[in-house]
Parts: sequence; C-alpha cells; structure tokens
Amino acid sequence: MLNSSSPWRGQSSQTPLQQLWDHLLLHHRPLVSSPFFPLLLAFSSYVFFSVPFAVMDVVGDRLPYFYQFKIQPSRKPTLKMMCKSFMTALFNHVFFVLPAVVVGAFVLPSPVLPQDAPTLYDVCVDGLASLLLFDTQYYLWHFIHHKNPQLYKWIHAVHHEYMSPFSWSTEQLSVPELMTVGFWSNLDPIVLRCHPLTTWAVTVVSIWMSVEDHIGYDLPWSLSRLVPCGLLGGAAAHDLHHQKPNRNYAPFFSHWDRLFGTEEKLTRKE
Ligand SMILES: [Zn+2]
Ligand SMILES: [Zn+2]
Repeated sequence: MLNSSSPWRGQSSQTPLQQLWDHLLLHHRPLVSSPFFPLLLAFSSYVFFSVPFAVMDVVGDRLPYFYQFKIQPSRKPTLKMMCKSFMTALFNHVFFVLPAVVVGAFVLPSPVLPQDAPTLYDVCVDGLASLLLFDTQYYLWHFIHHKNPQLYKWIHAVHHEYMSPFSWSTEQLSVPELMTVGFWSNLDPIVLRCHPLTTWAVTVVSIWMSVEDHIGYDLPWSLSRLVPCGLLGGAAAHDLHHQKPNRNYAPFFSHWDRLFGTEEKLTRKE
C-alpha cells in the first residue's frame, strides 16, 4: 500500500525501484504527472504488444514454426479485419476516452507523486490485488452481458464479431464496454491505495494479458502456460470463449470459471 512518508527513505533510496522512481521524478516529472500519461501508457502498450502478433497474422502459415500453435488454423484474420479492429480502438480512444480524460483533468484533483518508491513486495501484492479485483468485476459484467440478450446485442456483441480472435481484436469494444473497463482500471488502484508506479505496472501487465488472451496462438512460452496449475486462462481459454460464448468468462484468472462451472479447457494436440 502507498506509504506517504517512509522513515526508511535513506535505505530504500538504494533499491533499483527507488532509483527508477527518482529518475522519473527528476527527469520526466512533467510527463508522468500529466493526466494524459495513463492513457498514453495504456494505448502505447497496446500497440507495442499487438504489433508482433499482427505481423505473425500477416505472415501466417509461411512461418510454420509459429503457425503450428495457431488455435484455429482454418480461420485467419484478413488485413481488412485487422484495420477495422484497430480503427475501432483508435476512434474510441480519440473521441471518447481522450475527452473523458480532459474532463477528468478539470474535475479531479491532480495526481500526487510521493517521494518514496514502493517496495517490490508492495508492487507484487498490490498489483496482484488489482488484477484479482478487476478479474472479479469483469467476470460478473461479462457473465451478465452474455446472459441478457439486449445487453449482449447493445454492448458486448461488438467484441464477438470474430469467432477466432487476433491481437487487434483485443480492443474491438463498444464505447460502453471500453468506458466500463477503463473506469475499473482507474478506480481499482485508487481503492487499493496503490503507488503510482504499481498502478502503471498493473496497466502494462493487464494490457499484456488482454492481448495474450486474443492472439489466437497457444504459445508454449506464454504467461498463461508459464504460470503453474492453470491459474491463468490465457489465449487457450479466451479463444474458446469466442467459439463458445457461454464458457470461460474471466479475463485473466481461471478460479471464477472453475468455481461456477463455466470453465472449458482447450484440447491440445501434444
Ligand atoms: Zn475477447
Ligand atoms: Zn464475451
């Protein structure tokens, strides 16, 4: 949790996180204290993580080593599909998220950047708590929006245009869905009193996990395969959700789908 005045300032200044934090405050304060920084971080992370998989989609079966891991090899995204998804995300960010940030900059208090960095323990515990809270919120929202035909049609169907997801389809979302996800992503770290550095780390990690859910490749070195016991759903689980929309509602973890009997595992050819 955020510790506004640490008596261990002298000691903690030696940690790599404190050095990083001092560097950010000293050299990049105007950038990181800007109300636009979280949006810039989120969208640039999305583009950075998605581009390599977009290249894989374009190259397709001409790279057989990667293509062997394609979950639905008979369904390939076309350039037109990829452009449409990207333009939807760009349009929503420019015309809805950006104005919301501008309004927030006038209405909300300026972000406070403490002098002390968080400890690595704080980043891990608070970051995990944020991811678990978001996972719970989205599981419930997602379940409701699949069970209610009107909510599905008006709000969530945009995301289900394609039965075989690809990286750029991650943020092919309706405006209400994008704003809901953005609202939780901003609110949860405040409720959990996360340090700004933890909040930014959660932003990057959650966008990575969201993109990985949609890449359409069950890569052996993906985060969901590296974390043991199937604790994360990953591409295998979410790809199945796009094929069978009444299964695998959780975005990141697998426990809610296991508890409520909505989990389905991908049959892997091993
Ligand atoms: Zn999806
Ligand atoms: Zn869905």
